[in-house]
Amino acid sequence: MNVNTLEKDIKQFVDAIDVRMDAPLADYTYTKVGGKADVLVFPRSYSEIEKIVAYTKENDVPLTILGNASNVIIRDGGLRGVVIILTKMNEVKVEDNKITAQSGAAIIDVSRVALDASLSGLEFACGIPGSIGGALYMNAGAYGGEVKDVLEQIVVITDTGERKVMTSEELELGYRTSVLQNNNYIAVEATFALEKGDQTAIKAKMDELTFLRESKQPLEYPSCGSVFQRPPGHFAGKLIMDAGLQLTRIGGVEVSGKHAGFMVNVDNGTASDYINLIKHVQKTVKEKFDVSLHREVRIIGDSKE
Ligand code: FAD
Repeated sequence: MNVNTLEKDIKQFVDAIDVRMDAPLADYTYTKVGGKADVLVFPRSYSEIEKIVAYTKENDVPLTILGNASNVIIRDGGLRGVVIILTKMNEVKVEDNKITAQSGAAIIDVSRVALDASLSGLEFACGIPGSIGGALYMNAGAYGGEVKDVLEQIVVITDTGERKVMTSEELELGYRTSVLQNNNYIAVEATFALEKGDQTAIKAKMDELTFLRESKQPLEYPSCGSVFQRPPGHFAGKLIMDAGLQLTRIGGVEVSGKHAGFMVNVDNGTASDYINLIKHVQKTVKEKFDVSLHREVRIIGDSKE
């Protein structure tokens, strides 16, 4: 793979202003860690994405999709090939009780659109910092609500560059899982079926959830949210706290003293610091309580040589 040829080729499909070479991904991730992308692209249309998918497949070039990068740790060696960030595709439309959003829209913004239109169902999402695409991929959820409850259908671009509609059932949404994790489809659009509600009540619910989030989570530091999934019968944060791991630090990353399920980048941490701290926490919790902690956060990219 020749990176200069790659740049030239990608600029045939996408405006040069939306293409960056050797781009530091730490500028885009919520953890503020991550190496560089060979070619970083911000597409603005479905057809641009389709062309990039077809090109990368034909030329055997690695392709990675990111939304708001709030649930990924990108290793310090970065990502080879093409990285697409979808945040410039962020249109949101309301029609009766339905909202259709492009996958680069922030789910927080979509929940605000729902509030403005007095539509109930997305209150749970008012503080989740991901994009619609990331929320579909993860079946994001909080405070008893999840994407699955309100999703009607999505539009994807398949790994062969074909556009198709998938119903919520076809997405097989489960606890932080969806079928998107097993194929290389790119979600480009989602339609949510909501219910007409009382705007004051919707706002009150969002204010309550925002208060809970701000009082319990270390939002003042870079992080990737809850690092681990909830193990059956337990809470990851409680196990980590009971193991005495809060404030344990490796390099610049530490287990939050405010919420033990979070790891915060307090002092120029690296992806390696995150990964080593995750392993240390998993090992300690296993030894103390015989419980395996499985990651919710995705770890991608190359290690630094
Ligand atoms: P990214 O991190 O960009 O990507 C995550 C994965 O999705 C990657 O594997 C990526 O390849 C894939 N992906 C992204 N977009 C697409 C697409 N369009 N098509 C196909 N694949 C795609 N999560 C919760 O569920 N509930 C919470 O309450 C919550 N609170 C959080 C609080 C904080 C402070 C932080 C930092 C994170 C929190 N998260 C929470 C985690 C995160 O915000 C969610 O998982 C979110 O859904 C991820 O979306 P994203 O756009 O950031 O995805």
